[in-house]
Order: sequence, then C-alpha cells, then structure tokens
Amino acid sequence: MTTENSFKLTYATMFNPPEELHQRFDEALAKLKANLGKEHAMIINGKEVFSAKKIENRFPANTDVLLGIFQKGTASDAAAALAAARKAFPAWSHTPWQERVALIRKAAAIMDERIYEIGAVMAMEVGKNRMEALGDAAETAALFRYACTRMEDNNGFVAELGKDPLVGFVSENTSVLRPYGVWLVISPFNFPAALSGGPAASALVAGNTIVLKPATDTPWTSRLISECLRDAGVPAGVFNYVTGSGSVIGQALIDSPEVDGVTFTGSFDVGMKIHRDFGSGRYVRPTILELGGKNPVIVSRHADIETAATGIVRSAFGLQGQKCSAASRVYAEAPIYDALVARVVEMTEKLKIGDPTDRSVTLGPVVNKSSYKDYQTFAAELHSAGKVLTGGKILTGGEYDKGYFCAPTVAELPFTHPLWKQEMFVPITTVGKVHSLDEAMKLANDVDYGLTSGFYGSDEETNWFFDKIEAGVNYSNRSQGATTGAWPGFQPFGGWKGSGSTGKNAGGLHYLQLYMHEQIYTRVRKA
Ligand code: NDP
Repeated sequence: MTTENSFKLTYATMFNPPEELHQRFDEALAKLKANLGKEHAMIINGKEVFSAKKIENRFPANTDVLLGIFQKGTASDAAAALAAARKAFPAWSHTPWQERVALIRKAAAIMDERIYEIGAVMAMEVGKNRMEALGDAAETAALFRYACTRMEDNNGFVAELGKDPLVGFVSENTSVLRPYGVWLVISPFNFPAALSGGPAASALVAGNTIVLKPATDTPWTSRLISECLRDAGVPAGVFNYVTGSGSVIGQALIDSPEVDGVTFTGSFDVGMKIHRDFGSGRYVRPTILELGGKNPVIVSRHADIETAATGIVRSAFGLQGQKCSAASRVYAEAPIYDALVARVVEMTEKLKIGDPTDRSVTLGPVVNKSSYKDYQTFAAELHSAGKVLTGGKILTGGEYDKGYFCAPTVAELPFTHPLWKQEMFVPITTVGKVHSLDEAMKLANDVDYGLTSGFYGSDEETNWFFDKIEAGVNYSNRSQGATTGAWPGFQPFGGWKGSGSTGKNAGGLHYLQLYMHEQIYTRVRKA
C-alpha cells in the first residue's frame, strides 16, 4: 500500500502514518458500522452457499455488536467445495502461468483499492488496532505479488537441463514444476488476511485449485479476500471459501482423499493432529505446517536499552500478544537487567488499551472468551509462582466491561517454570536475569519452538547470535519490533523445530516451489 505522499506501509513503517491514512480508515469504518449484522454466504463453485446452522461474528471489544452472520458449514459443504475444486483443476492448471499471474496481480490491485474496507473489518473482527489491520491487508497484497514475481523470475519453473552424453542421439532434458491438484488452506484468527491469502495465492499461481477454511472467529476478512479473487475473474471452482468449525468442516476436509496438499497455519496441537490425520491417507501428501512460537529476546550488557525496550514492548504486546512471533520471553544480562526491565514496565504502562478502531489505541481486546480465560489462568499462575511487575489482571469498568480486555503483563518467573516454554498467546511476557550470553542462548533454544527471535547488543555479538539461535526469522537491534513485523521479500517468514514443517519461509525465495512437484521430460532424437 502506498499513499499519495508515497508512504509505503509495512509493519516496520506503521508507527507514524500520514494523516490521509487515518482519514480513509475512518471513512471506511463509518461505512462498515452502517452495514453490520448482515448474513454472508460461503462461496462454492462460484455460488453463494448457505447452511442450516449459523455462526455469529461479534466485536471482541464490545460483544453486544454483531458484525455479521456466517455459515456453519458441514461435511457435505466440504465435499461440495472439494468436488468443485477438482472439476476446475484441469482447466486452471493448463491455463498459461502468465494468465494465472495476471489474474492474481489483478486481485492484488483490487485488494489495494479495498484496503481500508478490509482493514476496518479486520480491526473489528480480530480486535487489532487499525495499523496492524491495515498492515495485514497490505501484506496480503504483497504476498500475492510476491508469488507472481517468483513465478515470473523463474520463467514458470520450466528449465532446460544438461544433455546426456549419448552417441548418435540427442537427448533434451527439461525440468518443470507442476501443481499438485486441490490445495486446502486452513488459517488462524490472528492474521486472517495474510495467512489465508498468502498460501491461497501461492497455490493458485502454481496452478492448484483451492478450498479455504478460515478460523471461526474471523470468517469475514477471508471472505473479503476471496471476493478480490472472484472480482478479478478467477474462475468459479478454482477457489472455494467455506466456513464453520475446525472440528466439523475442518476435520472433514483433512480426512478427505480429495485433498492433494494442505497449508495449515495455527496452533501446535491442532497442527500435529492435522499432520497425523492427513498423513494417514493412502500415500504421503505435501503438508505445510506453520505453527506456534515461544520467541526469545536476548539483551546483552552492551545493548542500547531504549532500543531494546521499545522493540520488546512492541513485539510483546502488538496485537495483544496474539502473534505467533510475539516476544514472549526476555533474557537480559545482569548489568543492564534492572534498567531494561524498569523501562519495559514504564513503556508498557503507557500503552493505551481500548476500542481497537480508535486511532489512539495500541491494544484492543483478546479475540474471544477462551483467550480471556486463558489470560486469567496464566495471570493467576504468575501471581503465585512469580512476580508480576505490571498488569496481571483483566480490565473492568466502563467500556472494558463489554469486551475481553486484559492488562499487558510483564512478570518474573523462575526459569524452571513451565510457562517459560509454553505459548500463552495473550499479552504476557516473562523476563529473567542471566549472567552470560551463553546462558541466555541455552535457555532461548531449550524449547520445542523455533519461529522468531530478537537480539540487542554489539555487531560482533550479533554474528554469534545469528549463528547459534535456532529459529527461522531473527532480528538484531530492531526498535521496530524485537521479534515481530516480518514482510514478504524482506523477512520471509517460517519456523524451525515445532514451529514449521518445511524449512522454507513464506514470502521468500523457496516457498512457491512447495506448491508444485517436479516432473522431468527426456526427449530423445537421432543425431
Ligand atoms: P487453531 O489451531 O486453534 O486454529 C487454526 C485453524 O485450524 C482454524 O481455522 C481452526 O478452526 C482450524 N481447526 C481447528 N481444529 C481443526 C481440525 N481438527 N481440523 C481442521 N482444522 C481445524 O489456532 P488459532 O486460530 O487459535 O491461531 C493461533 C495459533 O496459530 C497460535 O498457536 C499461533 O502461534 C499460530 N500461528 C502461527 C503462525 C506461523 O506462521 N507459524 C502465524 C499465525 C498464527 P476453528 O477456528 O473453527 O477452530
């Protein structure tokens, strides 16, 4: 997204946007508020499909506000969507890749035009602040374009290979990457645009047809992304959008032999279940899993404290700590520990918490009742097993009584406590004092996750940090976010260990290839 004064929105530039951006967001929000409470269908084979049971989509900052009514799809909707995608596959996969790229680029252009509308819906649906919401929408368009560029840069992944050393014959050898077939995309609530749209665009550019199932909490944003595909002219059946609970329609999709590959982004436990269930089919199928994180920040005695504290607070509490990349644990060396923690606490206490659509608000509510309860359970545990330095309680009174508001929490906890290793996914971060960087690194790597990390210290220490840390996306001395704020093409995003299955990061050089299998052609002629 670029505005008239050529401000380019990314997660690293979003902190001080031009006025125009706020005005346009406010206009879109006003329009949205006049259109709440309507019913929205699934899209299967290009048709609007309704189901008998419904999902109420509510504003987590004020649960009296009904955003819209969505469909609680069933196993038969899953089957219909897969059948439509199967039927559409031959024509779509044989559409020249240049035409597929043109359609996906057109969808990205439509998304740009609708960015404020998509951002406003997302802010209300997820409870994200407006800049986080616009960032997610802008990132989605960037992911669409990135997939296109990768296809173009690689000439559609058709490559001539060397000729065999035959005598009397010539053998021409060609490598092509071809789509698998029907691709399933299951996305989480926290980035409902980018994590639906990014995998969807890659699958489509590659020539697969798709079925998309977003999270129950956030069906609307994904519907708007699907509409961009529809309005760009992506043919009926090539993409299908279904809604409903993970355990019903999601499980039916995972259990179907009609799925040729899946991209699941979500929690570790659900991802591992999907891995097992999908792996129990007749043969092995590609399974892209992008799972949770428990992202460490290491702060050296040589760090600039202001930079470190700014980056930590942004990454611990952006989107209420509900980012897979959230900075959820901080290890600081003893000489700067007290000063750093004091500054982190001070900055945390200044964060404005409230209606996420309000331009002055940084933290909205957590997404739903279950996250609200999780927060209270974790806070109680921190009060009894550790020391809460700030936060540690839900917020009540006035507008807070209508939604799921939690105070951003910084707490000390003994390193032996299990919460140092568990993804909490609420606005809580734990801090601990270490006596050497080696001790910090040992603790940082001693978890099953390996998604993102952050470091503050000298250049030389940074080289050591990058070499030793076991995570997919790593930052040094970044005030824009210690562990968060990746952008396609700049910080391709993916995890090691329990955080991801492929080792190839989304929005990066090696990602699009995951959606295609290689085929080799050897054509022999007499010399
Ligand atoms: P969940 O794992 O709860 O849900 C993710 C998706 O899976 C939802 O659409 C959900 O549907 C669906 N689902 C649930 N059960 C099944 C099932 N049995 N079969 C098929 N689908 C199912 O994650 P959240 O939405 O709560 O998202 C938060 C998690 O996502 C965190 O762990 C976070 O770290 C991770 N994440 C990882 C990212 C990465 O890139 N590595 C990025 C963003 C988030 P329903 O909503 O209906 O339950």
